[in-house]
Amino acid sequence: MRAFYGVGRRVKASAARTTIPGFVNPNRQEVMSNTGARSASFAGQVIYKLRCRDCQAEYGANGCDVHHRRCPQCQGGEPGEGLREPAAGLFE
Ligand SMILES: [Zn+2]
Repeated sequence: MRAFYGVGRRVKASAARTTIPGFVNPNRQEVMSNTGARSASFAGQVIYKLRCRDCQAEYGANGCDVHHRRCPQCQGGEPGEGLREPAAGLFE
């Protein structure tokens, strides 16, 4: 019985790999980075910066949407979440 408990934990860990930088989903949307910003529409979700490999558009997406996200510019996807630029640049 204890062996099965270990297997379950491994499956859960692999599911998180869809949101690491470099992941490309079936719609050719590539994960660029974790912005660290909190989602405005889904509590507990973090915004990831995605880039479309077709048109190079960059936009933000909820972590839970990354694996099936479509480009808002050329694939008719939902408008992206706002990307927050690093605050340091504002004061230069
Ligand atoms: Zn695109």
